[in-house]
This record gives sequence, structure tokens and C-alpha cells, in this order.
Amino acid sequence: MTGRRDFETDEAAYLTDVAKFCDTVLLPRGDRSDTGEFFPDIITQFAELGLLELMFDEQRNLRLDRMRLIHETTELVAAAFPASVVALGALRLQGYLLKRYAQPHIAERYLEPLLRGEIYGSFGVTEPDSGTDVRSGTTVATRDGDGWILNGHKKWIGFAPVAAFNVVLAKVDHAGRDADTVALVVDLGSEGVTRSEVLDLMSFRGMPLGELRFSDARVPAGAALKVAGFAGMMEGINLARIDAASYGCGFLRAAIRESAVRANTRVAFGKPLGDLQTIQLKIGRMATDYEAARLLALAAGDSFALGHGGDPILLSKAKLFSTDAAMRHAVEAVQIFGALGVHNDSRVQRLFRDSKAGQIFDGTSEIHTLMIGRAALKAHR
Ligand SMILES: Cc1cc2nc3c(=O)[nH]c(=O)nc-3n(C[C@H](O)[C@H](O)[C@H](O)COP(=O)(O)OP(=O)(O)OC[C@H]3O[C@@H](n4cnc5c(N)ncnc54)[C@H](O)[C@@H]3O)c2cc1C
Repeated sequence: MTGRRDFETDEAAYLTDVAKFCDTVLLPRGDRSDTGEFFPDIITQFAELGLLELMFDEQRNLRLDRMRLIHETTELVAAAFPASVVALGALRLQGYLLKRYAQPHIAERYLEPLLRGEIYGSFGVTEPDSGTDVRSGTTVATRDGDGWILNGHKKWIGFAPVAAFNVVLAKVDHAGRDADTVALVVDLGSEGVTRSEVLDLMSFRGMPLGELRFSDARVPAGAALKVAGFAGMMEGINLARIDAASYGCGFLRAAIRESAVRANTRVAFGKPLGDLQTIQLKIGRMATDYEAARLLALAAGDSFALGHGGDPILLSKAKLFSTDAAMRHAVEAVQIFGALGVHNDSRVQRLFRDSKAGQIFDGTSEIHTLMIGRAALKAHR
């Protein structure tokens, strides 16, 4: 299979194929994911099904009008195998940044192999001492003739241990808070670049996360994205935030699925658990929050589809609501399962661990809440 799909005329058939793939391949694979083993074969299958190129047409133009289809796909994958959806979202983000902002020769070098699932990229903003406070970063690119010399340290970077390149956010010439910034597409095979082993997380096991160190790494001039570094990265982060909202919807969907199956089959006091009002109340709230999260995520995606990076406050609301709701209801799903819920073989305990990370990356819940609050205050000033 080439991976090229006629998404427009064949949308229902495409989604049926994705749902089948989720049930037959991703769900059982997710059940085995606590070994922490990376899953390149799954990424190859994403490519074969067309999942990696959803955002592009055959001529490799961006198709932001497919944001709703992207959401539906992401939600299905997230509900089946959470670690794999983080990989899918990361690859989408890199493809988007390459197409929208990289010089043509850089895009040509990486985009096609990325969409075929043959190489992985990575996105480097966070540093050991600079997370939410992005402006405190100390990775510096110093001008060197037409190019750059890069020094710094990035941490918690998805795909870093296996990626071919990293889109590095760096300050220009000095590490002051007010320094200009640049986003450089750095070949991770370059001299002066080293990477760590996989960082061992409780969440999204199998998704390789690591550190990158740059020590006088030479970066050619053409590697800079055609945008002021921070602004360009923020637009990328906006796409990542919509994806994070979609992951949350998938996790909620999984919480409802697992809880309902358990409640319908587990008998206590002579009746299924689902006959108890306490259980009905929990599942009722899950189902309601799922619908609300979905509507917000779709609205956020619609705003991004307009082509200007999306409505940032709407994106924050979608990301915040969806990931917080996913965490809340993963806790409830564990409770519905009783002791089985905290057993290492249960899906709901993995959902609980994965949902927790959703509240941390792509902007923590706290920082989104603050931005939403400030915007509301400003609007009423
Ligand atoms: C699974 C996973 C994948 C990731 N992938 C990537 C990646 O590919 N690329 C990348 O660059 N990064 C990645 N990250 C890093 C992620 O973006 C950061 O963890 C996140 O930005 C938070 O930064 P921090 O961990 O340094 O926490 P800190 O910034 O130290 O925050 C710690 C706590 O303080 C709170 N806090 C901080 N500042 C404020 C404030 N002003 N007001 C209120 N509360 C505040 C936070 O909300 C949080 O609760 C990933 C993280 C995880 C867990």
C-alpha cells in the first residue's frame, strides 16, 4: 500500500479502517506497552494507513481543512494506544513546521521520509532548568559567518533518542531573557550533538523521550526556520495543544469504554455494578465531559484551520478542559474497577498514568488556566 488515500470521497471508509486497526492492532499492543519497547512497526503501519500524511495533499500542500478528520483519527488512536498517539502527534507537528517554515532544501530532505515513517523528527523547547518559563532557556546560537554555532541542553524531548533532526529553539548570541530567538532544524548526526538514552517515564511507555546536548555544533544558515524563532515555535505548539486536547478526548473515550464494560459485567450484591447509582453517576459525568471536551477540541481545530495559528485562548480552553477531564475520569475508572483497577495488567491504571502526563506537556494546566483568566480579565477591563 502506498499510503495515499482519497480522504475526501472516502472518509467513512478511511475512518472504518482506522477503527479496525485500533481494535485489532493498537489496543492489544497498548496492553503490552509497559515493557517500554519502542514501536517503529506501528509507525510504519500509520504511514501505510495514511495517518502520517493526513495534513497534506498529494502535492504536499498543507490541508488544514482536514483538522476535523485529524481529530477523529487522533481520538481513535488515543483511545487504543496512548503512547502511539503521542508519536503520531509529534510527527504531524514536525511535518507542519517543515512545510510551513523550513527552507525548501531542508523540507525536501526530511518531509517525505518523515511521512513514510522512515525517520522521526523532534521538537526542542524544554531544558533542564527551563520548562514553563521558556524565556529562561540558555541554549544559544551564535552567528558564525552565514551559519550558527549552537550550545545548550534540551530535556524531555519526544523522539530525541531516535530522531534524525531536532527543531531547536535557541536564543541568538546571548542567553538574556530579552534575546532574539531562532528555530534551527539541526541534523542530529552533526558533530557536537550528543543524545541521552531513553528517559524512563511512568507515562506513554515505549514513546522514546530523551535529552540533547549541543556543544559548539555547527549549523548551516539555511537550517533556520523562516520565522522569528519563538513565534514560529508557538504556532507549532498551538497545533500540539490541539492534538493534546484530542488525546484527552481519546482517553475519556477509553475511560467510558473500560468502565462501562466492567460495570455491566461485574456483579456485586446480586446485580451488575452498573445498576448502582454511584456507578451511573460516575459514568454519566464521564460521558458529559467527553462530549464537552470533544466540542472544544473540534472548535479549537476549526480556529487553527483558518490558517493563522488558531485562537490561542480557545486552544488553551480545549487543552485544559480535555486533559483535566481525562485525568479526573481516569481516577474514577480506576475506582470503578476496585483492586483490579490498580493491578498492573489493567488498562485503567495505564490510562491514569498517561492522563497525568497530558496535564503537563504542551503547557501545564496551571499555565493554561492563568492565560484564560488573564484574557477574561482583559476582555472586561
Ligand atoms: C511526556 C512528555 C513529553 C514531552 N515532550 C516534549 C517535547 O517533545 N519537546 C519539548 O520541548 N518538551 C517536551 N516536554 C516537556 C514539557 O513541555 C514540560 O515538562 C512542560 O513545559 C513543563 O515544564 P517543567 O516540566 O519544567 O515544569 P515547570 O515549569 O518546572 O513547572 C512545575 C510546576 O509549576 C507550575 N508553574 C510553573 N510556572 C508557573 C506559573 N508562572 N504560574 C503557575 N504555575 C506555574 C507548573 O504548572 C507545574 O505544575 C514533554 C514532557 C512530557 C511529560
